[in-house]
Amino acid sequence: MRLLSSLILIGGIFLSAMSFAAGPKIGLLMSDLRLERWQKDRDLFTEAAEALGATVYAQSANGDATTQISQIENMISRGVDVLVIVPENGEVLGNVIAEAKSEGIKVLAYDRLIKFAEIDLYVSFDNVRVGEMQAEAIISKTPKGKYFLIGGSPTDNNAKMFREGQMNILQPAIDAGDITVVGDQWATGWSAEAALNIMENGLTANANKIDAVVASNDGTAGGAIQALATQGLAGKVAISGQDADLAAVRRIVAGTQTMTVYKPISNLAKTSAELAVKLAKSEKINTNGTVENGKVDVPAVLLAPIAVFKDNIDATIIADGFHSHDAVYQK
Ligand code: BGC
Repeated sequence: MRLLSSLILIGGIFLSAMSFAAGPKIGLLMSDLRLERWQKDRDLFTEAAEALGATVYAQSANGDATTQISQIENMISRGVDVLVIVPENGEVLGNVIAEAKSEGIKVLAYDRLIKFAEIDLYVSFDNVRVGEMQAEAIISKTPKGKYFLIGGSPTDNNAKMFREGQMNILQPAIDAGDITVVGDQWATGWSAEAALNIMENGLTANANKIDAVVASNDGTAGGAIQALATQGLAGKVAISGQDADLAAVRRIVAGTQTMTVYKPISNLAKTSAELAVKLAKSEKINTNGTVENGKVDVPAVLLAPIAVFKDNIDATIIADGFHSHDAVYQK
């Protein structure tokens, strides 16, 4: 009996090891792991996909679009079943994706849309809504005055969607003459340093007369706030962000950043992991929209972002365990 149950046990382990090895192989291509949020994305995605029996091969292009193309080629030759891609440049992957498709590999665009390519699925947040939340927050704090806009990477489709959302809110106030846009610049590669330079130049050009800054994420907000601080303006000028990066949440507590947009990354990562495994198995996928990418109507799953201010940090970011109370309040 004991021998029999041991054999069954060993058989079970053997079988589960076999099914593990036989599970889907997923190539996870990250644009740039140097930003805090993307490390969370990688870890949560990998954990969720592996719990579903998949094997994940993750690589970061460190902000270089050409590197990302070779990494995708490398995944194709490894024989992955699904490519999950955070594109560094969402407009240059058409050829390499056509190659993947000809090998029967499924493609999921993660967080950022891939344009002009036959992809199977797009999983992200409602990025136009993110931009609206940023502008709504800044306009309610500073309804009138001189506005400076800092966009993200010009090669990231999300950056354009954030701007679209921002303008949905700003345009009526511009038309009414309540606000004037005195500067509009895009930070190459979403770089904080680029944002710092943009803000320094913007302040000089406007003799420091800037009342509000619509920055598209926390990294660029951080750069801009550094420039504002040098002029004694940090905390006096309303400024938005996005990602709930720890440094940004601390700035909100300190009063130098007005808000951030918190996007529960664990939902994005877990949903994408589940759907990537389903794609590998050619199972049916429930979506809640479609997005036209210049080539096909891509089935999409879009999750809801959350605006965060000083007074709801505890109820959102901390309650979710995204950051701990001690980390935020530096206890
Ligand atoms: C993401 C943002 C992020 C930015 C820079 C965007 O595509 O949606 O969350 O801040 O890239 O990495």
